[in-house]
Amino acid sequence: MKLGIVGLPNVGKSTLFNSLTKAGAESANYPFCTIDPNVGVVAVPDKRLKLLADLYNSEKVTPAVIEFVDIAGLVKGASKGEGLGNQFLANIREVDAIVHVVRCFEDPNVIHVDGSVDPVRDIETINLELIFSDLEILERRIAKTTRGARNDKTLAKELELLNKLKAHLEDGNLAISYETEDEDELAWIPTYNLLTAKPVIFAANVAEDDLADDGAKNPYVQEVREYAKKSGSEVFVICAKIEEEISELDDDEKSMFLEDLGLSESGLEKLIRASYSLLGLLSYLTAGEKETRAWTITKGTKAPQAAGKIHSDFERGFIRAEVINYQELLDSKTYAAAKEKGLVRLEGKDYVVQDGDVILFRFNV
Ligand code: GDP
Repeated sequence: MKLGIVGLPNVGKSTLFNSLTKAGAESANYPFCTIDPNVGVVAVPDKRLKLLADLYNSEKVTPAVIEFVDIAGLVKGASKGEGLGNQFLANIREVDAIVHVVRCFEDPNVIHVDGSVDPVRDIETINLELIFSDLEILERRIAKTTRGARNDKTLAKELELLNKLKAHLEDGNLAISYETEDEDELAWIPTYNLLTAKPVIFAANVAEDDLADDGAKNPYVQEVREYAKKSGSEVFVICAKIEEEISELDDDEKSMFLEDLGLSESGLEKLIRASYSLLGLLSYLTAGEKETRAWTITKGTKAPQAAGKIHSDFERGFIRAEVINYQELLDSKTYAAAKEKGLVRLEGKDYVVQDGDVILFRFNV
């Protein structure tokens, strides 16, 4: 899973990205890998892993991960090729969801590209570039589809959709707000890979003082919240500068620091978990002496496909899954005791895997 961090210049994207990747680098259990200076792999915080690993005395703990991409360079005119515009837009096309950073902090030392702090104007500037880029894609599709549509009913219907989408975007709307229950339309839309069809989380970057009350007294944050409500997006209040400081601390120092700020977890942890659920993802777990590990699946995944995340042989040769909820396993103290109590279920190929399931797969090779 990949998340793209977007926003105007100087809103705090790099600061946020650096703290994410540093936090990732410092979570000793996951070998942080730099794929590219702009791509960072971050562990999904999951308290269940440590508890399970203690139970099994596991040598290794491997969390689920998500990838963040720092998409800098999105400026007014990007869709017309300003800056390195089009290249950045292509990067966004590859992500599953967008974290849109907006500046909600005042600081005379940090220049705003448009001269003043105004998060809703900023959001609309970025959205407009995304809309322009999507319109180009739609226009190309329309040209291609028009040729075939005269003799093909399906293509004619798709052409109609393309034109409806185009009108929707031309009115300043995002593709994600296009409402339809038509099954063909629902199947076609994802194939266009539109930027404005991707789910968005807003990260409202505030000053340190606004953290404790979650930005309640910051009027900019309220504006972003109102804007997000209309588009059905979530808003996260974050202070990128503080996150950068936190990412340099060890675990104990970090807890103390957060406590002083009146917080129970860092903004990054909240953000990572929110992105996970925004994308409809969940984790099942495997536990043993060698390794305790979290595996990412989408909601609704059945046992054989979940097994396939570990190895394709597991999916092909799937026989059944031994499943127990992680809390029931912890309460029972040992797997054997849980089994005796009848808490370990045998599940077949139609079982829909749940978040927090601890699973042992039985399979043929
Ligand atoms: P980007 O262009 O969006 O990647 O922005 P940067 O992360 O490079 O930040 C631009 C400037 O704003 C830097 O000088 C940061 O130190 C500063 N900055 C970032 N986040 C905050 C914040 O939460 N508060 C304040 N006061 N400054 C910040």
